[in-house]
Amino acid sequence: MEYLDLDINLSNEDIMLKKNAYEFAKKVMRPIAKELDEMTPEQVIAKDSPFWEFMRKAYELGYHSILIPESYGGMGLTSLQQAIVYEELAWGSVGLTVALGVASFPAFGASLVPEENMIEEVLEPFCECKDASIIGCWGITEPDHGSDTLLPYYPSFSDKSIPAQCVATQDGDDYIINGQKSAWVSCGTVATHCALFCQIDPSMGHAGGGIFAMPLDLPGVKKGAPLNKLGQRDLNQGEIFFDNVRIPGKYLIVGPDAYEALLEIVLSTTTAMMGVFGTGVARAAFDEALTYAKTRVQGGKKLIEYPNIQAKLFEMLRQVETTRAITRAAFAYNQNTTTPAEEYSNIAKIHGTEAALKVAHEAIQIFGGNGLTKEYLVEKLYRDARAMIIEDGSNDTLAIGAGHKIIETYPRKD
Ligand SMILES: Cc1cc2nc3c(=O)[nH]c(=O)nc-3n(C[C@H](O)[C@H](O)[C@H](O)COP(=O)(O)OP(=O)(O)OC[C@H]3O[C@@H](n4cnc5c(N)ncnc54)[C@H](O)[C@@H]3O)c2cc1C
Repeated sequence: MEYLDLDINLSNEDIMLKKNAYEFAKKVMRPIAKELDEMTPEQVIAKDSPFWEFMRKAYELGYHSILIPESYGGMGLTSLQQAIVYEELAWGSVGLTVALGVASFPAFGASLVPEENMIEEVLEPFCECKDASIIGCWGITEPDHGSDTLLPYYPSFSDKSIPAQCVATQDGDDYIINGQKSAWVSCGTVATHCALFCQIDPSMGHAGGGIFAMPLDLPGVKKGAPLNKLGQRDLNQGEIFFDNVRIPGKYLIVGPDAYEALLEIVLSTTTAMMGVFGTGVARAAFDEALTYAKTRVQGGKKLIEYPNIQAKLFEMLRQVETTRAITRAAFAYNQNTTTPAEEYSNIAKIHGTEAALKVAHEAIQIFGGNGLTKEYLVEKLYRDARAMIIEDGSNDTLAIGAGHKIIETYPRKD
């Protein structure tokens, strides 16, 4: 389906990237995501799973390196182009798009503080990889720490009385890591590397953290079973355990001195990115509903002829368009500033994911009983969108974090 893009300044290159990503989403992602959605979590990650076909094809096209600058071998897209491509991919499947996004996380983290060894050992090999043999993940959530790990500069973030469950202790030039990350680590069951966000200095609470670009083949690393869940079933997730894992200090991207600041920078990108994904999911649901309403005859008329259906479709498109506007703007702003406005990323994430859920909800309503069946895509979109309200920070706590920041720092002087 063709779409209007209100941005009259899109270049030919932007439009070509959009078209290519849309074709990939439609022809490769949609059918594979449907297959994976109906499998058990174990089947999703089995050697013969279509998950691997998706990953290989995505890597071949460079979609694993969307966030990485060209100088390190990444796609070298502008922030607008990143948002455009991610929206298309999320239209195909948000679960698979998240898998690709986290796959780049250790390399993305390394690109923010590009030491020479990180470029040679992490960034370049990842970008050069075309067969999905290097897959990253993002380990931040712990069994007893979810929302609180994503609230830099919130008072609880530096509360030293709250113990972390994954801790790195310095030992000469190395660090010894003990503890675990929760079952929510996306791609945790298949990853070869982890952007590990863990505590180093307990006297600073969560703020005393560090980020490692960690190979997961080190002795003492163990992975849990894949998680069985409601939505984004095409995205595998699982725990990672660390038992006296010795890691050379050269893999530390940032330590306690700058952890909180870098976390805010990372989140200002990833949180807005979730909003961009929300636009893709909302648009997918709108698409399905529009096509269905044009063909379904009920009570002697096509659904599209009923005024309430017309009004619903308008409201759904309104959600898609307003969401695209705010998510693209927040994503681009925070990619291009040294002092991120994380509150805008939170606005984007909350707006985008709520729009995805609302539009998927209305799409099911337009489908009537059919919308509840596995025969149609909308029930999957609804389940996938529901997960997004919690994913990468529950929307409720992101609002609290952003509210706190606004009170502390507004009116802004820049
Ligand atoms: C699909 C998906 C993908 C994910 N991928 C990853 C990943 O790749 N890596 C990773 O590390 N994690 C990942 N996560 C974990 C995700 O970041 C956490 O689920 C999220 O931060 C919420 O944490 P929690 O689930 O522990 O909920 P909790 O933090 O326990 O929150 C439960 C409820 O309590 C509320 N609450 C919590 N704290 C407060 C407070 N201070 N004040 C008021 N209300 C509060 C929340 O809003 C929520 O409604 C993923 C999650 C999902 C669903």
